[in-house]
Amino acid sequence: MAKLEVLKKQFGFDTFKSIQEEAIDKILAKEDLLVILPTGSGKSLIYQLPTLMMDGVTVVISPLIALMQDQVANLKVLGIKSGMINSQNTSEENYAIFNLALQKKIKFLYIAPERMANESFQLILKKLDINYFVIDEAHCVSEWGHEFRDDYRKLAYLKDIFPNTPISAFTATATDEVKNDILHTLKIPQTSLLKSKIQRDNLFIEAQKRVGNAKKQITNFLKKHPNECGIVYCFSRKECESLSEYLNSEGFNTLAYHAGLPTSKREDIFNKFKDESVKIIVATIAFGMGIDKSNIRFVLHTSMPKTLENYTQEIGRAGRDGLDSYTLLLYSKADEIGKRRFIDELEESAYKQNSYNKLSKMYRFASSEVCRHQLIATYFNDEIKKCESLCDNCTKKDRNYQDITVEAQKFLSTIARCESRFGQSYIIDVLRGSKAKRILDFGHDKLSVYGIGSDKSKEFWSGVCDRLLDLEAIAIGGEYRVLKLLPKSKEILKSNLKVEIDVDSLKVEKLKTKAIQKEPLSVDEEIFNQLREIRRELAKSEGVPPYIIFSDKSLKEIASYLPSNKAEFMAINGVGEMKLEKYGKVFIEACKKIKLSLQTSS
Ligand code: ADP
Ligand code: MG
Ligand code: ZN
Repeated sequence: MAKLEVLKKQFGFDTFKSIQEEAIDKILAKEDLLVILPTGSGKSLIYQLPTLMMDGVTVVISPLIALMQDQVANLKVLGIKSGMINSQNTSEENYAIFNLALQKKIKFLYIAPERMANESFQLILKKLDINYFVIDEAHCVSEWGHEFRDDYRKLAYLKDIFPNTPISAFTATATDEVKNDILHTLKIPQTSLLKSKIQRDNLFIEAQKRVGNAKKQITNFLKKHPNECGIVYCFSRKECESLSEYLNSEGFNTLAYHAGLPTSKREDIFNKFKDESVKIIVATIAFGMGIDKSNIRFVLHTSMPKTLENYTQEIGRAGRDGLDSYTLLLYSKADEIGKRRFIDELEESAYKQNSYNKLSKMYRFASSEVCRHQLIATYFNDEIKKCESLCDNCTKKDRNYQDITVEAQKFLSTIARCESRFGQSYIIDVLRGSKAKRILDFGHDKLSVYGIGSDKSKEFWSGVCDRLLDLEAIAIGGEYRVLKLLPKSKEILKSNLKVEIDVDSLKVEKLKTKAIQKEPLSVDEEIFNQLREIRRELAKSEGVPPYIIFSDKSLKEIASYLPSNKAEFMAINGVGEMKLEKYGKVFIEACKKIKLSLQTSS
């Protein structure tokens, strides 16, 4: 069977995406390969398809059991047999799976990196007829990356033990440094690199300064995505718990997830998210890699990640199915300062300097007024045009600058009068004339600045504070996060330096999130939900997540076209022979019924 035929029959797609075909040709020609393609571009298909045209077994090394399970389930509904060897299986189970591979009764063998790193296991593997090795999430090889795994490093021996077996490595996020590290470690030649433009054209990226406790910004964003699945990333465990609780009290359906929960509880939450019985997960980055759920519609960060690689991976979890998805990053200068303090603790090293560097790039990204897709591309040594319609900076018409020099002076004076011994919230309280006991105890109600800012909200003043931090007129120091004046503050106090602020950044209700300008399929919400229910039932009886039966994209196509026979059903993106056979009848029946009810009701 030719490539295109396999694509249609097995996977149900008519055309290849971006560099899929080129990459597949390399694998078929038994060449090594490093593919760098953004999330959701279809990296799995690149290594899955050629295997179906080969006789042997393909060995896939994947960093997480959850990822393997997802892949195995995916292949299962496509009618392709595969198995995994990992620490969750008993040794009998692992042995049985190995035997299936030996007899070529499975096409894919998934292996955890720690086992792969074991040399005696590598020797046992020699008994297999291996088509090629696949290294998924290959950035784990590199210490310069953000998810370094020691066992991945040991994959360096692979080429020595299997000199004649090609290697295909895949990642979504690699700077030039990481890319070179992967090529070097796995001994893949430079000419084997295939890389596409990094832009995700179904992802709307937005960043806002965090205003106050951000609850309003968070709920405003979530209200725009009712009934949709998404992730809210928080910095600490405590924050996850309290935000999740708050959101539930506001009527959102959420669960908190972090590394402090017992494994069984975490698995349970993960599964509930996959099968859609909970829509929103409020998580630390412990809820990370391994989320291959394709219909995540939004990712919200309540504070700033430490690098753009982390950020790109995290937002990358949205919209794998290619449908429009939204991301919002809430940040403040205080996030950067807090993270900087962690790096301060490290011993002097190139790694430490690199960490500072990455952190400041992250902050510059957040506070920048340049196209966000462009900034990400630049970070990954790529060049793209302005997105025009997919980020807040491109869609924002005019910035609304306002002179706040007088307010800045009030803020700076208050810090000075309080002798640079207090933090942000105390300074704001003094400015606004709070009657808090600690202020009275210090006698700060007697200061000339006491109450001179009572005409403005707390949020306004915290915006002023952020701006002054941005301008490096003040700094946060010490364990108690005390505000201190820097030399530049003098210039502002003497009115030699004007302070301006984009006033929109101080307002909460200014979400510029406009729909992504693409022709949307006209889909009746109600029909979609009916079909979603059917998908859920099927998924339950098969014991796989719903999005593996059909992606939201396929389901929307079904809802829109309501196919009423096999040929029409086959024309849906993502329907191949196997899915036609397994799910055709149920969906065609349902579509017929829906059509009928539409006719009778009109
Ligand atoms: P990645 O690993 O690059 O993040 P996946 O392999 O998970 O991406 O694929 C993302 C989505 O794209 C999946 O839902 C997959 O079915 C779909 N897909 C893959 N190849 C094609 C194609 N040629 N045409 C349409 N959809 C595709
Ligand atoms: Mg993948
Ligand atoms: Zn843009």
